[in-house]
Amino acid sequence: MPTEPTYVIVGASLCGAKAAETLRSEGFGGTVILLGSETERPYERPPLSKGYLLGKEDKSVIYVHEEAWYAEYDVDLRLGVTATSVDPASRTVVTVDGERVVYDQLLLATGASPRRLNIPGAGREGVLYLRTVGDSERLAAAFRGGGRVVTVGAGWIGLEVTAAAREAGCEVTVVEPEPTALYRALGPELGEMFADLHREHGVQFRFGESVSELRGPGVAGPVGEVVTSSGAAVPADIVVVGIGAVPNTGLAVGAGLEVANGVVADAALRTSNPIIYAAGDLANSDHPLLGRRVRVEHWANALNSGPAAARSMLGQDVTYDPVPYFFSDQYDLGMEAAGLPEPGTYDQVLYRGDRPGREFIAFWLAGGAVVAGMNVNVWDVSDDIQALIRSGKKVDPARLTDPGIPLTEV
Ligand SMILES: Cc1cc2nc3c(=O)[nH]c(=O)nc-3n(C[C@H](O)[C@H](O)[C@H](O)COP(=O)(O)OP(=O)(O)OC[C@H]3O[C@@H](n4cnc5c(N)ncnc54)[C@H](O)[C@@H]3O)c2cc1C
Repeated sequence: MPTEPTYVIVGASLCGAKAAETLRSEGFGGTVILLGSETERPYERPPLSKGYLLGKEDKSVIYVHEEAWYAEYDVDLRLGVTATSVDPASRTVVTVDGERVVYDQLLLATGASPRRLNIPGAGREGVLYLRTVGDSERLAAAFRGGGRVVTVGAGWIGLEVTAAAREAGCEVTVVEPEPTALYRALGPELGEMFADLHREHGVQFRFGESVSELRGPGVAGPVGEVVTSSGAAVPADIVVVGIGAVPNTGLAVGAGLEVANGVVADAALRTSNPIIYAAGDLANSDHPLLGRRVRVEHWANALNSGPAAARSMLGQDVTYDPVPYFFSDQYDLGMEAAGLPEPGTYDQVLYRGDRPGREFIAFWLAGGAVVAGMNVNVWDVSDDIQALIRSGKKVDPARLTDPGIPLTEV
């Protein structure tokens, strides 16, 4: 009698856990092994820079499943277990304890890690990063003492952490080499709107400067000041580094998979090895709608690409090409963004609604068609924006910017 196959998932976070859930909900009766380096059961990261960091949400909100779910669905969740190598020839994952786990199919969902600061003094006490729930708890404890915070990087994580630090009563200076906040993510005008929001809450910015050294007592004592490329020395008790994330490609490289800004995958999330899949922050996959490969570091992508990869593993015909979706909350501003308005992918930005009052929708257009949109303090429109993007049709700018016309009719 043939034995049931074993599907192994490396990376027990949102993407991996949702993949395991889909294998079961689609009727897979074989063995599902979910390996994760962290000791917490799979959890979602957005609250770590928002409600949980602010102390407004309980830890229970972060988890993907109830603790009992894994046993109930016969998912062999192995926490605190790092996979150290994958041998495609013997279809084996080797763990840090030397255990060998044989797979019939493998999903890599190892995510990404914070990019580290590589300057003198970067190892000093008080220099903090944010990726894990432990990082979030360390930051919350540090902010509780008040004090002076320097945030390195005015991207999404840097700005959300800055908002949390301000709400906790810390003084915050943000150092960012670009001309304004979120410059590459949103462009100059909208980036400046976020910078203004933070200025109104008392945040200082040093745009056009990078950090060059972290100084303090002795060679390894606590951080005391941040030296920037302009020569300024900004006093700091805490330095939070938010300079982007790097995909965790080590296993894939070792396994000889094609790797280029993440693990290269087709639109079915299959890597260059046909029984190994990649999803979530790790995967740089073909995106037929956008006509290029994309690697998306967003919650919704982890939520949806894990299940898509699972269906692929089960032999279903999968094309994974959703409109990328992202959200952020800072102070009383909430936003959702659809599409990827990266520099060079659009030629026009149009607005509908009240920009000074920060209740509006921004649209990025290329050749007269909407390629991305962001709703700021305006709700229940993201699906319509995504449909506009997916349609690829040229729109009438007057109708697009008229709040009286439903987005479904522009
Ligand atoms: C603080 C924070 C706030 C965020 N807020 C938002 C937001 O507001 N909106 C939004 O859209 N997105 C947000 N994101 C991004 C979103 O959380 C990520 O896109 C998502 O976590 C990616 O999920 P993933 O499962 O692919 O990878 P990850 O969450 O990175 O998980 C990968 C897991 O794999 C484990 N792992 C890695 N290597 C191994 C190995 N060799 N063996 C075993 N396990 C391994 C890691 O320890 C980790 O647990 C935020 C991210 C952070 C860090």
